[in-house]
Parts: sequence; structure tokens; C-alpha cells
Amino acid sequence: MAANIPRVIDLQINQFCNCDGCIRRVKTMLEDVGGVELLSMDPETGKLTVSTAKHPQVIQFALQRKLRKAVDILTTTNDQPSS
Ligand SMILES: [Zn+2]
Repeated sequence: MAANIPRVIDLQINQFCNCDGCIRRVKTMLEDVGGVELLSMDPETGKLTVSTAKHPQVIQFALQRKLRKAVDILTTTNDQPSS
């Protein structure tokens, strides 16, 4: 079983405040978790897309703790081929 294959995860931060400070906090938090690449982020909706080998819930819980907002996991795309 191959481990640590990065996959793309879409997350939704509920009632995200789209000021520079909160956007920066999200980025800083992702750096603190480590091994997370921020692919895109829409501050208007609070939706972000990351690429990581970590479990989606690790990102979800870290964001919730940091921002004190509810975070939903929208989708996870596993790039692992089914061989
Ligand atoms: Zn803010």
C-alpha cells in the first residue's frame, strides 16, 4: 500500500471573514500543519482547495481550531490509480 500520495481536498469555511488578516491566518495555519499546498482560495465564499497527503480531517480540525468557525469537507479526490 502506497502511503503519502497527495490528493486534492476542497474545504468550505463557514461564515469566513475575507479580510487580509483572516486570509493570512488560513495560510499560516496550513504552513503550521505542514505538507499542505494551497492550490486556490475564494475569500468571498470561504472555499479553499489544497493538495496534501494528510487526512482531510487533520486540515478540517486545524482550521476549525484556528478560526473558530465550522469547516466542511466538500470533496476529496484521490489520484491513486486503482490497480
Ligand atoms: Zn477577518
